[in-house]
Amino acid sequence: MSFTLRNLKPYGARWALYTLLVVLSVIFTMSTALSVADFLKILFGENDTGMPSVNLVAKALEGLYAWLITFGRKEALILFSVIIFVLYSLKNIFGYLAAVQIAVIRTRVVRDLRNKLFRKAMRLPLSYYDRARKGDVMARFSSDMVEYEEGVLGSLQSLLSSVISMVLFLAMLVYLNVKLTLFVLLMLPLVALVVAGIARRLKRTSQAVQEMNSRLISITDETMGGLKVIKAYNAIDFSNRRFRQYNRDYTRRRNAMYRRIDAASPVSEFLGSVIVIGILLFGSWLVMNGDNGLTSELFISYVMLFVLMIPPAKDLTTAFSQMRKGRACADRIEAFLNEEEEEYEMSGEKRVAGSSEGVSSTAVELQHVNFSYNEGVPVLKDINISVPRGTTLALVGSSGSGKSTIADLICRFYECREGKILLDGKSIADMPLAELRSRIGVVAQDTLLFNDTVAANIAFGRPGASREEIEQAARAAQAHEFISAMPEGYDTNIGEGGGMLSGGQRQRISIARALLRNPELLILDEATSALDTESEHLLQATLGEVLKGRTAIVIAHRLSTVAGADEIVVLDHGMIVERGTHEELMALGGRYKQMVLLQSLD
Ligand code: ADP
Ligand code: MG
Repeated sequence: MSFTLRNLKPYGARWALYTLLVVLSVIFTMSTALSVADFLKILFGENDTGMPSVNLVAKALEGLYAWLITFGRKEALILFSVIIFVLYSLKNIFGYLAAVQIAVIRTRVVRDLRNKLFRKAMRLPLSYYDRARKGDVMARFSSDMVEYEEGVLGSLQSLLSSVISMVLFLAMLVYLNVKLTLFVLLMLPLVALVVAGIARRLKRTSQAVQEMNSRLISITDETMGGLKVIKAYNAIDFSNRRFRQYNRDYTRRRNAMYRRIDAASPVSEFLGSVIVIGILLFGSWLVMNGDNGLTSELFISYVMLFVLMIPPAKDLTTAFSQMRKGRACADRIEAFLNEEEEEYEMSGEKRVAGSSEGVSSTAVELQHVNFSYNEGVPVLKDINISVPRGTTLALVGSSGSGKSTIADLICRFYECREGKILLDGKSIADMPLAELRSRIGVVAQDTLLFNDTVAANIAFGRPGASREEIEQAARAAQAHEFISAMPEGYDTNIGEGGGMLSGGQRQRISIARALLRNPELLILDEATSALDTESEHLLQATLGEVLKGRTAIVIAHRLSTVAGADEIVVLDHGMIVERGTHEELMALGGRYKQMVLLQSLD
């Protein structure tokens, strides 16, 4: 609840306005009900009850009656209809204005929350996504958000408006007749008890429903991402069955949930009707006995007021059960927002890319690094590497040997808890993440390109870059030529995911992107692996140029890419088994030579 209050805090003034508008709307509702008494009096031409009334409402109505009747009976009825029409209109106008306020509050709270979620999603460490299902994260943005808006914000709104209505109605009822109202009040706790019983188990069911929904989203997402494989393996039926099964379970749970929610309203309406009958009996008895000024007209108004009170009472009970349901989602959203994020602050002086003068002669150094993703499964064991400024280090080794993990640790995508990693002589553990990452340029196997112009895609890591700088980076990545040949050059839109480009071109753009930041350290993780042999050869020539004079760590599956490196480190099951230049390792005749020979066969 405190979570929702915090979300609502910026909109306190609007809530106050909403409350005021609801109060006005309720007041006009009451006046329409009360004035019916006068209408009936005019219609039946009843002159006076003969009882001097102490009731202000009765007196006011009396006054109104006295004034209206001076126009003649027929005219009075017409005039009176106009008055009722005006009252009704006012009631509806204020009701509408209140609804507008609440809509603004709801949509804005949801907007704020969605912004927070997105920001959070980006700030969570990558290790979070190893644990979490993607669909689960997506569900927080979609269905949880909808449920939260409907369940919590929606029910908060009807809670407020129905409480206001009921309090005002009750006050008026008490004013009209205490005895009769006491009877009503005695019945209310009974209603509350029944409703609370229904709502209690709702939250748990709702939680289960949301979880199943997030799984459903996961499956859909997986399927859409892997349609090619599914079709290729003729696995349509299999996927279909799996989906249907989840969908069936999900639907079953939802049914159970709605059964509970829907029970609240008929039960409370039933109780309401019991009370109405009680009022009718008890009230007529009071009227017949001429009890303290309860005239028959006032009694009719009283019953009308009470009947008008039933919908807000019903809303109140529905709001309670909806609230329960929404709370489950609120908890999920809140839990996500409370996940620990990477501390991402920029350090005091914002570093201008590439401007730092080196203090240490080694750009990067790993000292006795041990690492495991999961407790007890070591992935890196006692890694010692140092890359002198301006040289290239190559990491080779079979798939799963830990090459990418080393790159991830240097970027601090994962925290290295054992051993030390130094960038320019300083431990990266003490460096703000934003600073660290601004000093490293990463080109990976999967390029992330946006549906935007070529220039915008290159400038992604440095939004302020000038056109000259972008072109320079593109030239260095040997991308200038093909970009210039495109219909609108650098302003050509490359389509969704860079769909218009070949693999080699995409990779060249992502190299240009990395170079534009003029990083102290360039990391190429299998940058050429996704390419066919021909584009790979083309790109290799590029890489030779790019790497000249730069500090770089190159991870490559194909060894021809790394033969020119200043040092080659061979990894096996997370351990360094050989190191040296290409010639030295060939002369050694060990693991590396074996790999080279194997590869030259194909
Ligand atoms: P390489 O890049 O050399 O192919 P990786 O560094 O990607 O190897 O992986 C090294 C080992 O760590 C592998 O056994 C892999 O299964 C494991 N691994 C990689 N990423 C994760 C992760 N996010 N969570 C758990 N284990 C992982
Ligand atoms: Mg890898």
